[in-house]
Amino acid sequence: MAVTKYKGFATKAIHAGQIPDPTTGAIMTPIFQTSTYVQESPGKNKGYAYARGKNPTRSALENCLAALEGAKYGLCFSSGMGAIDAVLKLLRPGDEVITGDDLYGGTYRIFTKVFANFGIKFHFVDLKKASNILKYINANTKMIWLETPTNPIMQIIDIEACAKIAKKNNLICAVDNTFASPFLQNPLAHGADIVMHSVTKYLGGHSDVIMGALCLSDDNLYQQLAFIHNSCGATPGPQDSFLVLRGIKTLHIRMERHCYNGRKIAAFLKSHPKIDKLYWPGFPDSVNHSIAKKQMRDFGGMISFSLKGNKQEDAFKIASKLKIFSLAESLGGVESLINHPATMTHASIPKTERDKAGVVESLLRLSVGIEDIKDLIADLKQALA
Ligand SMILES: *Cc1c(COP(=O)(O)O)cnc(C)c1O
Repeated sequence: MAVTKYKGFATKAIHAGQIPDPTTGAIMTPIFQTSTYVQESPGKNKGYAYARGKNPTRSALENCLAALEGAKYGLCFSSGMGAIDAVLKLLRPGDEVITGDDLYGGTYRIFTKVFANFGIKFHFVDLKKASNILKYINANTKMIWLETPTNPIMQIIDIEACAKIAKKNNLICAVDNTFASPFLQNPLAHGADIVMHSVTKYLGGHSDVIMGALCLSDDNLYQQLAFIHNSCGATPGPQDSFLVLRGIKTLHIRMERHCYNGRKIAAFLKSHPKIDKLYWPGFPDSVNHSIAKKQMRDFGGMISFSLKGNKQEDAFKIASKLKIFSLAESLGGVESLINHPATMTHASIPKTERDKAGVVESLLRLSVGIEDIKDLIADLKQALA
């Protein structure tokens, strides 16, 4: 269970779930590189029996994440997809899920190519207006799955409004909080039941770990998910857990700089003559800006834009001219990245669906890192020239 004695976010990021090692006083939680634990007599152990089920380094991280999300429980998975997979295993054949029409490509893929084969039906709905959900609710509906801000169009979805509809209709409301990180947004505080993270991104923060997590407070849901977690076995190792514990210690400082740099770059791109559409939830005229202001503490460092003329080759040219922004999938690390969603992160979504969502051929997505803002803007300036 989460340590709740710390109030402020930064103090939680540095201390929650972690105590000096009782045998040595080591201030950093040790990497418990073990697969099993010696028992005094059969069944008599110190709470740890086999490391798929539990590992002390991972427990420290799970408790830290729970504290950051204001949750009672945290569960870490070997990837974000492993965490999503576990949530979907709460469902049964015939169940239906209502989700957004702009999702991470891997989420769309596991919905349509894996769980659809097990008889689960997914409705991809424009959730910019939460009431759109109502048209799709029937006796089989069991879950609402949200991403906000969405990837890559940075749409803002009203968590509180969706969670209210979920509660009224006895549905589970799960939110992928990867893009915001717990520093910018805590979905449970707005009524969601489950928060999911690709820990790989901002939480890890240094582009060196693949991991996922779920945070929640409902005892019954936790029991079910902990059972799936151990039974299906997508659990991370202690070395990766240590790296993320270490990464999280600077999450608040990193996020402040991601937001600062993001704001400056959004302002630079806004007046650039080559840019057609620009997506960043911090503009007063962006769709659902008032909801972003209500549920987020700041607007983050993720920005997408399309180019006038909408030519893929123009997007490719910009990506190849950049010297500090690296062309790569993923996001949320200290280094700035650029991504071409249509051929990279979102290639598994059919073109007709992509175009509907605004993921056009010239769309580029920036994960603004924490380098010097002058260098980043100079790099974008020369690449867009
Ligand atoms: C990366 C990502 C995932 C998947 O996480 P992995 O750690 O890569 O498995 C899910 N949702 C979003 C929004 C992501 O960006």
